[in-house]
Amino acid sequence: MNNRTIGLALLACGLALATGPTPGLAQFSLEDLAIRAFDITVELTPVALKYEYTGGDIEFTSHGVLRGTTVAQLEVTATSPVTTARFDFDSDVNLTSVAAPGYQVASKRLRDTLTLTFTPALPPGGKVPLTFAYEGGPDYIYNEFVKVGPGSLYPLLISPFGDLSANLGRVVLKITNPGGYNIAGTGKLISRDGNTSTWDSEVPVPWVALAGGQKHTVRDRTVAGVQMEFYVPPGEDRNLDKLADFAGRSVDYYSKLLYPFPYSQLRTVSLLIVGGGIGYPAFLLIDHRAFRNTYSGDLNRDSHLFQLMAHEILHSYVPSQTVPKGNGFIWLSEGFAEYLSLMAVQAVMGPEAFKRELQEERNLYASVVATTTEPALGAITFTNYHGAARRSIYAKGSLVLHMLRGVLGDEVFRKGLAAYFTAYRGKAARVSDFQEVMEQASGQTLDWFFSEWILERVLPDYTIANTTSSPNADGTFRTTVTVRNRGTGSMPVEIGFRTDDGVQIEKVVIASRGEGTVTATTPKAVTHVEIDPHKWLIKKDDKNDVVPVK
Ligand SMILES: [Zn+2]
Repeated sequence: MNNRTIGLALLACGLALATGPTPGLAQFSLEDLAIRAFDITVELTPVALKYEYTGGDIEFTSHGVLRGTTVAQLEVTATSPVTTARFDFDSDVNLTSVAAPGYQVASKRLRDTLTLTFTPALPPGGKVPLTFAYEGGPDYIYNEFVKVGPGSLYPLLISPFGDLSANLGRVVLKITNPGGYNIAGTGKLISRDGNTSTWDSEVPVPWVALAGGQKHTVRDRTVAGVQMEFYVPPGEDRNLDKLADFAGRSVDYYSKLLYPFPYSQLRTVSLLIVGGGIGYPAFLLIDHRAFRNTYSGDLNRDSHLFQLMAHEILHSYVPSQTVPKGNGFIWLSEGFAEYLSLMAVQAVMGPEAFKRELQEERNLYASVVATTTEPALGAITFTNYHGAARRSIYAKGSLVLHMLRGVLGDEVFRKGLAAYFTAYRGKAARVSDFQEVMEQASGQTLDWFFSEWILERVLPDYTIANTTSSPNADGTFRTTVTVRNRGTGSMPVEIGFRTDDGVQIEKVVIASRGEGTVTATTPKAVTHVEIDPHKWLIKKDDKNDVVPVK
């Protein structure tokens, strides 16, 4: 049982998007094209849910029907003519037609990749509406629950690595469903006419989805000034008020930390099969176990449920407003959702809850490094996003941000985060953009930090090699500690000198496979020395960090 139930926004879609480059066609870069707006019209015909287990895996044997039309406003951003466009489009959905006025459009499907070829080539700066008509039986259109994501709901421009930034556009989504269903789209509900509802993303977003069901009922809650709707089946409302409270407080926290929540409404749908949660723009799909209070072990604890909501809500900022691209793009979304949700836990639930949930990240990362080698955070893309890489993006991904906060100090770190999210609101951002903003905020170069923790893969392993302590003539004590790094990575390390009166902290930089010596003068005798007493650092082993001083 995987106990990492924290939101998997990119993961769930990532599985659908994990397709390799199409052979035999010129490689297409997302820098070449952008979609400025989507107009999506879909009709859903749900069926009864049928499934069987094959070798422990669930297989859905019934499929409801989706019929759709999408008009995508395509714009050529390249400086030379473009002939091909590459889309993620679910192989369970048949493309009935695709047309662009003034062009012949040829389409080719390979698994979940749709490649369009334009004749004549699209000119630089050219704008053309692209109309797709399609019909099929994608996951999941059932009476019991409906959940259709981007790539099935409509085609998405995509880079070979899963970069979605070229879809940053305003989306209007019109949904028609049979009577008796409550199905929500992403964004603001702008009209309802019988069984047809129309949703507007309000601001440009990289993707939208829809979800709900026949038994889902709509509950309104307003917390901390946030207008929310919860789509919850009967019997799943045990934690409804609690989750609404957590959602409201998270929105309030991010609104102050970053910038005001950029949408006027927030919707949450209780669902099966979301593995914790998925966060679309102002649209959260949350594991029904969170609503039912039926997680296993102690995962129903408040701090875990809070972090689950806070993680998915952060996805309303990234990748929904700041759309990551290039090396490390998954870290820019999941690592940030994980760590900023921990910061929200700290602010709202207090230091003990924060410590508890941060320790979960350390334990998870320790289990990764103990058993296998994971790629560097900057090398993780949808093509290798499984196993150790997937666990690492949440655990190490959040711990790296925690380290950066330790290096820069709390105030500078917060100022930098706010500056980064504000500067890249409604834009694509790379790891180097984040680095640059943090360098400006702190007035120091951070190449060393990003090289070690994002581009490379280091793992310090500190031990206390030697301690000596002796009284001075004035009655104070002089204690010297030598700390050895048996692993890799060069970091400033805090050393705590503990006396009966408390802990005195000294800092020392310890090089990769190097040693550092630090001396403290204390009014009382030092009883213990401790490596990294505030637990800022990623290290191989934190069980040997405290030693007594004789
Ligand atoms: Zn996530």
